[in-house]
Amino acid sequence: MAFQQEIETKLQKGINVSSNEEIYYALLELVKEKAEDKVSNEGKKKLYYISAEFLIGKLLSNNLINLGMYDEVKETLAKYGKTLAEIEEIELEPSLGNGGLGRLAACFIDSIATLGLNGDGVGLNYHYGLFKQVFENNLQKETPNPWITEKSWLNETETSYQVNFGGFNVTSRLYDIDVVGYNNRTTKLHLFDIESVDESIVGDTIDFDKEEIEKNLTLFLYPDDSDDKGRLLRVYQQYFMVSNAAHLILDEAVAKGSNLHDLAEYATVQINDTHPSMVIPELIRLLQERGILMDEAIEIVSKVCAYTNHTILAEALEKWPIYFLDKAVPQLMPIIRELDNRIRGKVDDESTYIIKDGLVHMAHMDIHYGYSVNGVAYLHTEILKDTELNNFYKLYPEKFNNKTNGITFRRWVMACNPELSALITELIGDGWKKDANELEKLGNFVNDDAVLDKLLAVKHEKKKQLEAYLKEKQGIEIDTHSIIDIQIKRLHEYKRQQMNALFVIHKYFEIKAGKKPGRPITVLFGAKAAPAYIIAKDIIHLILCLQEIINNDPEVSPYLKVVMVENYNVTLAEKLIPACDISEQISLASKEASGTSNMKFMLNGAVTLGTKDGANVEIAELVGEDNIFTFGEDSQTVIDRYARGDYSSRSYYEADEDLKKAVDFIVSDEMMAVGCKENLERLYNELLNKDWFMTFPDFQEYVKAKEAIYAAFEDRKRWAKMMLVNISKAGFFSSDRTIEQYNNDIWKLN
Ligand SMILES: *Cc1c(COP(=O)(O)O)cnc(C)c1O
Repeated sequence: MAFQQEIETKLQKGINVSSNEEIYYALLELVKEKAEDKVSNEGKKKLYYISAEFLIGKLLSNNLINLGMYDEVKETLAKYGKTLAEIEEIELEPSLGNGGLGRLAACFIDSIATLGLNGDGVGLNYHYGLFKQVFENNLQKETPNPWITEKSWLNETETSYQVNFGGFNVTSRLYDIDVVGYNNRTTKLHLFDIESVDESIVGDTIDFDKEEIEKNLTLFLYPDDSDDKGRLLRVYQQYFMVSNAAHLILDEAVAKGSNLHDLAEYATVQINDTHPSMVIPELIRLLQERGILMDEAIEIVSKVCAYTNHTILAEALEKWPIYFLDKAVPQLMPIIRELDNRIRGKVDDESTYIIKDGLVHMAHMDIHYGYSVNGVAYLHTEILKDTELNNFYKLYPEKFNNKTNGITFRRWVMACNPELSALITELIGDGWKKDANELEKLGNFVNDDAVLDKLLAVKHEKKKQLEAYLKEKQGIEIDTHSIIDIQIKRLHEYKRQQMNALFVIHKYFEIKAGKKPGRPITVLFGAKAAPAYIIAKDIIHLILCLQEIINNDPEVSPYLKVVMVENYNVTLAEKLIPACDISEQISLASKEASGTSNMKFMLNGAVTLGTKDGANVEIAELVGEDNIFTFGEDSQTVIDRYARGDYSSRSYYEADEDLKKAVDFIVSDEMMAVGCKENLERLYNELLNKDWFMTFPDFQEYVKAKEAIYAAFEDRKRWAKMMLVNISKAGFFSSDRTIEQYNNDIWKLN
């Protein structure tokens, strides 16, 4: 049936007399039915990608693309003067993740479905996603972020389990979201929930009673990348997730004919960071319950579980106090002790033990009892092997492998940048949509002026769309003829938004002194800070104060604008990235495991300004030094300085006039007039006395690199060439490639 007929049957009236909301819900229903009609891979061995986060973003456009309906829907709506974008405005974003790790999981399930692999995602059905960020008095406030409406992408299932905690039980309920592959099959995102969750305990803030687990277990996504708050509730959430997953895994294996002794032929589990680590003892426990002896249960589980490490930041490697686990999940502690004892019996290196000083080291359990350990970019994996996990690498060199992250091109160019996708297709046909390596063919056009002009025209069109969007949604004005220089990612000191802010101050002084840029510059930030991460919130405060001062200064604002968008999320990323000229990837070398926004930007024709960190290293290798701007100390220099422990930020401050001026401005009268003394002074002191992520040593080189990239922008032809080279080399960063490698090297599903 033609689409128009189908949708009007659902609407029971014409599109012309339907509201956007009615059209959205009719489309939702239609897409869900089409997804159900698709087949899943029913192969023998199945992957369970367990993750506490799936930052899926809105699903309508992505699903329409993957079902092959996008163009027809768009054209049909256009006949009635409607756009898909305005229909999708009705959809609430499921922000079921904090940042890169959760977004990666979302890209991965898209690729698993697209490649037709037998694998599902398993996670939690948080009723409130990552907090909604609002700015008040130049400060971040957190408010609840609901996303579940009466009709949504969730499908309630019959699946339900008993999950036992210390002192009480809960009954779970599984909700599924169909994940449609691109022109292929579907897989499922399994999200577990309990029926006793009580949304009425949530008020206007994200504070709530953390004691009553039966009411709050799946109420909120844990809003932290690294800080401690509500930690015990976090343990309850994690166990709830993995206990359900373990039940599901065993039930599905048995249903397919497994006798459980052969579980490894039926199931493989990818543990996405340490949040799902308790799946190891839980699977052992359930296998014992089903009559398998401890020795064998351990052996089986060790052939089933594989672990992905996402960070070398020590504070993010989870270590739970024994008394937490004794309270929440007493049935697991004897198993974890047994697992630890076995290591103590055969390994001398105490640093690798699972239980130390009253803490359970989740990653240690994963590495000893998993069959694979992978990092998420070449440099990151090398650092794990050589430094961070070197003691484990010496024990199990064969377990270590790299899987450089990737992104799904369906969402990150086809959906968010149809104009660029059309240009690419016009030039090289549409094979690239299935095989991203075909983007290399764009290399044939780097000297074709007509193509370069078209590329610049697409970029300008996306800037205009962004301008309209930001004006309407946030009352923010941007200049589409300015250089758009963007840093969007979680706010964290290691990502060094503070260094970018110091540059802004430096530029402000230059303009005040009469040194005006030839073309206006828009420095755009988007970032949420974990609610308990004080310094991160102070950095947001700094940026918002700068925005107020600079944008209201008639001498400066024609040349420099600072924009901090509110509530950075997937939806905003999809608007910002296509319009970007300069992609800021300036983490302290060695600290950003991979990054994935760097890949999204590159794919959309932005040029990277970055340190030699994470996947930036691989981007530089692919595009060549002429098509990227790198700067700053390398990871070895940084690692060595940490080892020596002799970093003194004050000595850099004293030695560098520009830096000193910029830092001092944080506590200047101008800043105090718009900001809070306490926050600004705290940040100033932190930088001057600690600067743990070493912004000062890189500052001068950063300023130079910024000037160089701004200058390069003026040679429009050279710039367009750089854009095209970046796009043509982005194929490697398709998550389809990443997932193929996971499957070939780790999961071996086919
Ligand atoms: C891609 C993405 C991230 C990850 O960004 P990095 O710069 O790699 O840290 C975080 N949040 C959202 C909403 C994203 O889309």
